[in-house]
Amino acid sequence: MPNTKYIFVTGGVASSLGKGIICASLGKLLQARGYRVTNQKLDPYINVDPGTLNPYEHGECYVTVDGTETDLDLGHYERFLNVETHRANNITSGRVYQNVITKERRGDYLGTTVQVIPHITNEIKENILELGKNADFDFVITEIGGTVGDIESLPFIESIRQLRWEMGKDCLSIHLTYVPFLSAAGELKTKPTQHSVKELQQEGVQPDVLVLRTEHPIAQHVKDKVALFCNVEPEAVIENIDVKTIYEVPIKMQEEGLDKIVLRKLGIKDERKPDMENWLIFLNKLKNAKKNIKIGLVGKYVRLSDAYKSIIESLIHASAYNDRKLDLKLILSEEITEENVAEKLKDLDGVLIAPGFGERGMEGKIIAAGYARREKITCLGICFGMQCMAIEFARNVLKLSDAHSAEINPDTANPVIDMMESQKHILNMGGSMRLGAYACQLKKGAKAAKIYGKDLIYERHRHRYELNSRYTEDFEKNGLICSGYNPETNLTEILELNTDNQWFIGVQFHPEYRSTVLNPHPLFVDFIKNSIK
Ligand code: GLN
Repeated sequence: MPNTKYIFVTGGVASSLGKGIICASLGKLLQARGYRVTNQKLDPYINVDPGTLNPYEHGECYVTVDGTETDLDLGHYERFLNVETHRANNITSGRVYQNVITKERRGDYLGTTVQVIPHITNEIKENILELGKNADFDFVITEIGGTVGDIESLPFIESIRQLRWEMGKDCLSIHLTYVPFLSAAGELKTKPTQHSVKELQQEGVQPDVLVLRTEHPIAQHVKDKVALFCNVEPEAVIENIDVKTIYEVPIKMQEEGLDKIVLRKLGIKDERKPDMENWLIFLNKLKNAKKNIKIGLVGKYVRLSDAYKSIIESLIHASAYNDRKLDLKLILSEEITEENVAEKLKDLDGVLIAPGFGERGMEGKIIAAGYARREKITCLGICFGMQCMAIEFARNVLKLSDAHSAEINPDTANPVIDMMESQKHILNMGGSMRLGAYACQLKKGAKAAKIYGKDLIYERHRHRYELNSRYTEDFEKNGLICSGYNPETNLTEILELNTDNQWFIGVQFHPEYRSTVLNPHPLFVDFIKNSIK
């Protein structure tokens, strides 16, 4: 395609309408026609990145291969498109301002007054166009976080307005709204949508396509009405009805003709049909699995499942590929005690000990790990979860009763989990984190190597502390072996129990960031497979 096309997706009426899923679905459908697509998220908040945000505020922090801490929508993009994203795929107001202020301090603006318009908007525009540089992509789909009318999203909408004015045919605007059903009136109500579109028009952007999220089918005359009052072609009013699984959305959007209308509006003639065959194979497995698999996720953010988004999606992928329906039980780790652990974990086919930071709920994770180890329950520990497995083993098998992580108890005589010397001088929050993809060498003959089917892997990290090498020998002598290590630093990346009849594996990295619909993660697939046994 001669020019990269830019698609902007805004939302109105309410948040949490699934804009990220719509963007990922559109990306998938275009990709399935053979185009090169990337998705981008613009977040209007002032944090430079979501790395310091509480998961209850914002949901999970997703980490890209290049070590950027990003919005969880990037996880959807990767899971749907099976393509890696990078730093340029997620921009926040905080980063935009940081860049502009850095340039101002450097004197780049040559004495001019630095203002929201044009400096902030230019910075936003550059960050959008950045992805289209080098002609790497046919389509850049940019999602604007928040809802239209928010004060903080104004510079973003203004940037879109300018880009559309500058690039004309190469840009397209999609607006996602909500059409509520008033049961008292027995009717779907379109007024909020009309208002939302007016708001967007007031900011200078006329949407080309409207996607209407709804819990009930939208009749043609309702769509026609929306079209008339919102100045949009009737064919470009797309119904987005609730479905059981997010993985059905691309198929629904295809049925509704979202990809077709987008291509037509961008002036692209394309008679091909998206090749969604493999996607449908997955979807059929997901929807038709008869038997359940019951997995317990032990963590401290169980009130909001978005906090563990990628883990849950990875479990869903792996269960579907094992022809099982995931029956997930979120278990609040701070409520687990030695007395009630058997009760809380009974009936589970497998236990996953979640990542995390800080003391709250940690002892519960350690107790859960110990219970799974003794009862031979299939158990996967991720990051902090793996660290809890190691502490439990040190306390109960090596009999080091004060074993701990230096993160929680810096004065313990047995810091089984500790910070490496080289990190200790870095004080800035986030600065000392090990972030992004690192190589991991797998030991021949161990479970991990068999699961991956190769001996060198790359997995993404997000943590500050490491397994203290002082203890590895004792661990290994007692059956908890290091089956994967960093080839450069020798740090332990995988621990596993060295017995044939038990699946007990802890990983310092985050495999969940790499599981996609078409490439379910081998570690999760094997975890579910063994949980079935
Ligand atoms: N808090 C631990 C560390 O910093 C683990 C982090 C995590 O689970 N992502 O090392």
